[in-house]
Amino acid sequence: MSTISPFRPALERALNHALAHLDGLERQAVGARASLDTLRARLSVPLGDAGMPAAQVIDELAAATAGGINGSAGGRFFGWVIGGALPAALAADWLTSAWDQNAATFACAPAVTVIEEVCGGWLKELLGLPRDASFALTSGCQMAHASALAAARNALLARRGWDVERDGLCGAPPLRILSGDQFHGSITRAARLLGLGSGAVTGLPVNQAGQLEAATLQQALIGSAGGPVIVLLQAGDLNIGACDRFAELIPLAHRYGAWVHVDGAFGLWANASARYRHLLAGVAHADSWATDGHKWLNVPYDSGFAFVAHADAQRRAMSYEASYVAHNDHVREPKDWNPEWSRRARGVAAYAALRQLGRDGVDAMIERCCAAAHALVSGIAALPGVELVWAPTLNQGLLRFPDPRPGATEADHDRWTDQVSGAVLAGGEALFSNTTWRGKRCMRVSVCNWQTGDADVARAVAALARVLERARPRPPDLAV
Ligand SMILES: *Cc1c(COP(=O)(O)O)cnc(C)c1O
Repeated sequence: MSTISPFRPALERALNHALAHLDGLERQAVGARASLDTLRARLSVPLGDAGMPAAQVIDELAAATAGGINGSAGGRFFGWVIGGALPAALAADWLTSAWDQNAATFACAPAVTVIEEVCGGWLKELLGLPRDASFALTSGCQMAHASALAAARNALLARRGWDVERDGLCGAPPLRILSGDQFHGSITRAARLLGLGSGAVTGLPVNQAGQLEAATLQQALIGSAGGPVIVLLQAGDLNIGACDRFAELIPLAHRYGAWVHVDGAFGLWANASARYRHLLAGVAHADSWATDGHKWLNVPYDSGFAFVAHADAQRRAMSYEASYVAHNDHVREPKDWNPEWSRRARGVAAYAALRQLGRDGVDAMIERCCAAAHALVSGIAALPGVELVWAPTLNQGLLRFPDPRPGATEADHDRWTDQVSGAVLAGGEALFSNTTWRGKRCMRVSVCNWQTGDADVARAVAALARVLERARPRPPDLAV
């Protein structure tokens, strides 16, 4: 007599709900429609004494979240910097959960430990980083920063005879982080987590192109008077995708004994593209790099990567020996490189994404996203009532919508810009998020999804055209 697997009913429901969601993205509104109150009312049911069948849990989850899921898995989601999930990566992510390995050590998770080893090697090759760099597979770029900067902290202080792993920071020479002022908030938080404090981060003025100038950096390096310094450079800043001039700045920082860390959350992927890698010339000479899998590589969430050129520093910052943990010297033990102890085998999904795409597929995806960003921005900028603020050099662009009323002020333009993207969101055809850049509200255009194609661009431009057309005769009325 055969017995039915206790997993099958719930997993089959999950598969059906997942496919209904993914296949429905074409027709659904891109932005979630359910209100906070609605979602709370549906989800915050009393936790009863009695449980329920697993399949019913999944059905009720799908029902209760309906309308509360953004269409970020689809091709018309251009908000923030958010990728989708490649089919192989999504499926591998499901398998990762089914296997439920603790990817801390080879003994706990033999196959996935090897997968992570291989994945790190592939990523270094693809991103043009040194072959012998060490790496960590983290929850995202935030923790990749924290991991890489922990290695920087270790190395910079070790050079001054200070063992930060044993003695902490009290009494240590103060560490500073110098960066262009467009750095991401995750840097500040990494500085806080590492005990450096947000005050350790100095944002230096950038030029018109959003890049740190060598003279500005040099002055700041001189001003730091031989103290331990991390120079943070940008491979793709969050608003305009600006990339610092690595070939010039990295040798300069090294002359002053600084550690150079690169925030390449999405922009480091330009190095996988024959067409765009010139933007990152010289980036391989940095000391550490942080990037994401869940943005441009289109791996499901919980995927970031840290790379460190000085493996010994990363190992000193992260490794731990315990009597109950078998250590295997023939394999890369994840616990020696990552900030976590027990951890998800998050390398499996990244491995699958890389295999699905291959080197050419990654290159093509980067180029396709950049082309779509360019087409979107130029298509929208060609409409009446639009100001082009930043044409994408990579996959990020900025637009502004001047308030058409006579005598409108900058504050009116700011408000109008928010209203226009709000109206696009309400229309359901596309989702953009806004930002304040150089003091002005702008609509950001970010393309990171493997699925975004010409038809998506056309639908989004048409949606903007409708909103602006409707707005023209009587400006204040943008109701949809
Ligand atoms: C998204 C982003 C980060 C933070 O990455 P998470 O994966 O969200 O932790 C850091 N820097 C830049 C430039 C980003 O775009």
